[in-house]
Amino acid sequence: MRLSAAIGRIQPSATLAIMARAAELRAGGRDIISLSVGEPDFPPPPSACTAAIAAIERGEHAYTAVEGTRALREAVQAKFARENGLQYGLDELIVTTGGKQAIWNAFQATLDDGDEVLIPTPYWVSYPDMALLAGGTPVFVQTTEAAGYRLDPHALAGAIGPRTRWFVLNSPSNPTGITYSAAELRAFADVLLEHPDLQILSDDMYEHIRYGDDAFATIAAVEPRLKGRTLTLNGASKAFSMTGWRIGYAGGPRDLIRAMAKAQSQTTANPSVIAQEAAVGALTGDLGFLEERRADYQRRRDLVHARITAIPGLSAPLPEGAFYLYVGCTGLIGRTTPAGAQLTTDEDVAAWLLENGVAVVHGAAFGASPAFRISYAVAPAQLAEACRRIEAAVASLA
Ligand code: PLP
Repeated sequence: MRLSAAIGRIQPSATLAIMARAAELRAGGRDIISLSVGEPDFPPPPSACTAAIAAIERGEHAYTAVEGTRALREAVQAKFARENGLQYGLDELIVTTGGKQAIWNAFQATLDDGDEVLIPTPYWVSYPDMALLAGGTPVFVQTTEAAGYRLDPHALAGAIGPRTRWFVLNSPSNPTGITYSAAELRAFADVLLEHPDLQILSDDMYEHIRYGDDAFATIAAVEPRLKGRTLTLNGASKAFSMTGWRIGYAGGPRDLIRAMAKAQSQTTANPSVIAQEAAVGALTGDLGFLEERRADYQRRRDLVHARITAIPGLSAPLPEGAFYLYVGCTGLIGRTTPAGAQLTTDEDVAAWLLENGVAVVHGAAFGASPAFRISYAVAPAQLAEACRRIEAAVASLA
């Protein structure tokens, strides 16, 4: 089979690949705790399930508007106004098959060969590959563990060039959990105002999973002059534990939204009508469960951060949001396993932890090594057992 050059430039999603490998080992009888995938372990809220069942019972079955039903766009419009202080017209909103598709649509609609997409490291695995598939060139802006993986506005300014089309801002971040305050976003905005041709992707997918006292801040609200060139992305996957239902949504300038809908009309068309009804139920229903879940994630964060950073050779900043811990593992590189293998990369470290019954994702997949990412959206007992296995495995290294 002759495959395209574009498909040859990208990697399969490392997180999904490791999740599949862990499931395969489990099916073969191995006891594996998977801390690999970014998936809430709660069920969707009853408001979503009831709405989906009602939609099925009503016989909903047909295509909807490509950009999503009016009812869902109205619910999204109300959400952006209520929670983010962002006012969008219905024609400035699009509903997509998962948040992923909104990014895909946006890059397909705007990138020409060689156009650059600025992505701070460590990054969520899909941004660079989606840019590459759209003919773009990812350009990475480095952050360091010493700086808590926070992006320096000067580094941002220094990385913007004549071909830069997008700046990708993800807060709370997958994979580090860092969460930018309004003041930090203000500093980025000051840089971005100097570059009127640059568009901003504000990926707010983890908005509702935050541990600080500050209100959530998103850049189009912090600096309204940027709203006309910002795509604000969110969705049902993480907030409502609806990863498999595949509903994302985004607000942005009308021309961009229209172009994204055009791309979507020639690929998937509308997201599942049943999932859209479920998302209306979730967005308009009781949201009290969000705080309970947030507090639950916070207890797990505290547990996993304390246990992992107490292990000699491992380090991690305290995450302020999302449900990931990004663990620096410089102290393990060069050491030798009981079987005599030397750990030379973070991929070796992840493979060796898998042998010891814990699936994590190596840092190279996120563009910052040597490190690995832990997802702590698993039951506390499993999390504690996974920490015990990591402690024992590290203690066995020569
Ligand atoms: N953005 C970030 C930062 C994510 O971590 C994810 C999923 O892992 C997405 C977007 C996409 O979410 P969805 O599952 O809705 O496509």
